[in-house]
Amino acid sequence: MNKVFLALAALAMYFYSCAPARQSTQSTVSFSNKVIAHRGAFKNTGVPENSIASLKAAIALGCGGTEFDIHMTSDEVLVVNHDHDFMGMHIEQSTYKQLLAKRMKNGEKIPTLEAYLKEGYSQKKTVMVAEIKTSKVSKERSLRLATKVVELVRSLNGQAQTAYIAFDYDVCKKVRALEPKAPVQYLNGDASPEKLKADRLDADYHFSVFQKNKNWIKTAKTLGVKTNAWTVNDEQVMDDFLAQGIDFITTNEPEILLKKLGK
Ligand code: MG
Repeated sequence: MNKVFLALAALAMYFYSCAPARQSTQSTVSFSNKVIAHRGAFKNTGVPENSIASLKAAIALGCGGTEFDIHMTSDEVLVVNHDHDFMGMHIEQSTYKQLLAKRMKNGEKIPTLEAYLKEGYSQKKTVMVAEIKTSKVSKERSLRLATKVVELVRSLNGQAQTAYIAFDYDVCKKVRALEPKAPVQYLNGDASPEKLKADRLDADYHFSVFQKNKNWIKTAKTLGVKTNAWTVNDEQVMDDFLAQGIDFITTNEPEILLKKLGK
């Protein structure tokens, strides 16, 4: 009897030890403060947005995170730029080589995501907040871009220094599936904190969404869903969200927000 019991106990312990670890939403990325520089720190530094120079400026300021936008060229090179076109050339319909014909006003070429991430990963204080842009060509292309971004981050060992944001809900879910512990924030503002909780996503919404849905920051906090508002450049709006305990504020004025937070 004793032997049977012991054998069963051993078997139970064996299966328990083999069970997959329960997926946790506990992120492995830690932010040093609430300030997310929008497209790098460009406004008060005079450098182009989404340039390596704007990234360096955000890092030099000590921002908790620095946001940037990612597209994929026709020959599948990942590049950093806000609009779907770079100096009049449509990124998804141009090869990377074609895009090199133009330069930013500070002389930089369009940054590859690889160069941008390598620069970001050369330090530890500022988290890289990677926006995966929605393809104008197809949903498949958006999802393919998401996969390629995650693969590149992994290949550079950048998981602990990278958060993901996207307007396309399916892209957010794709990244969540690929990276169970990465911060993944949905941008489009039309999902309640409860829905985000169910899909293990966070909220990075236009500030007007939080102004309209006055209980969402509080509700999200109760649910363990992180909140981020974009793009907040007005001091009163910053103060209001800080008083509500928002987790992050994305801003073109990181200098003002850092000062407000005593950083
Ligand atoms: Mg963006």
